[in-house]
Amino acid sequence: MKENKPISTILAALHQQQGQTMLEEFRHHYSPFQILIATVMSARTKDSTTIPIAHKLFQKYKTPQDFAKESIYKIAKAIYPVGFYRTKAKHIQELSRILMEKHKSKVPETLEDLISLPGVGRKTANCVLVYAYRKPAIPVDIHVHRISNRIGLVKTTMPEETEQKLLPIVPQQYWIDINELFVTHGQTICLPRNPKCEICPINRWCEYGRKKLRLLPKFERG
Ligand code: SF4
Repeated sequence: MKENKPISTILAALHQQQGQTMLEEFRHHYSPFQILIATVMSARTKDSTTIPIAHKLFQKYKTPQDFAKESIYKIAKAIYPVGFYRTKAKHIQELSRILMEKHKSKVPETLEDLISLPGVGRKTANCVLVYAYRKPAIPVDIHVHRISNRIGLVKTTMPEETEQKLLPIVPQQYWIDINELFVTHGQTICLPRNPKCEICPINRWCEYGRKKLRLLPKFERG
């Protein structure tokens, strides 16, 4: 890693920010199975939509058995209006049955077993490893992908590629924190369209931010 992008310093600065992600909140209240279901539900859906639905859903559905015996129609109705609710309902019922049949109703603790489940890609699997089991992994969603590129840690076009580039350059001790810190940062300051570089605590280490701030008139730099 280049000297001007010290990942430990960047993460330490981001630790000062307010807020927490949906999964960070959920990991204190829900089981690994419910973390898995919440993560499947949250794909391409805003957290503000997923959170209240998940809280309500988990009052009734707590185990793979609860979903496995339910109809896809009823699961879809219960998770509406999360994005792709019909497809996700099907995946939730299928993966619940697979967990019962092949994993003694437990959520697997390896990436390979997790991504073999329907509706579970690398990002979801890595989220489960980090938030359900506190195992080192780097879940790369749109925020982690965008911020890693803006900072200049990677130059990539797809989240999967970003994960592969980050793994060798970020010391393993920081893997578990990256998703939480970057997602919170991406939801509050490093917004997709208009990042607030002027007030960003890591702007001095960010390629995008340094370029943008140099373009601003002096009085706006603060
Ligand atoms: S300086 Fe701007 S682009 Fe860079 S991380 Fe901060 S908000 Fe995002």
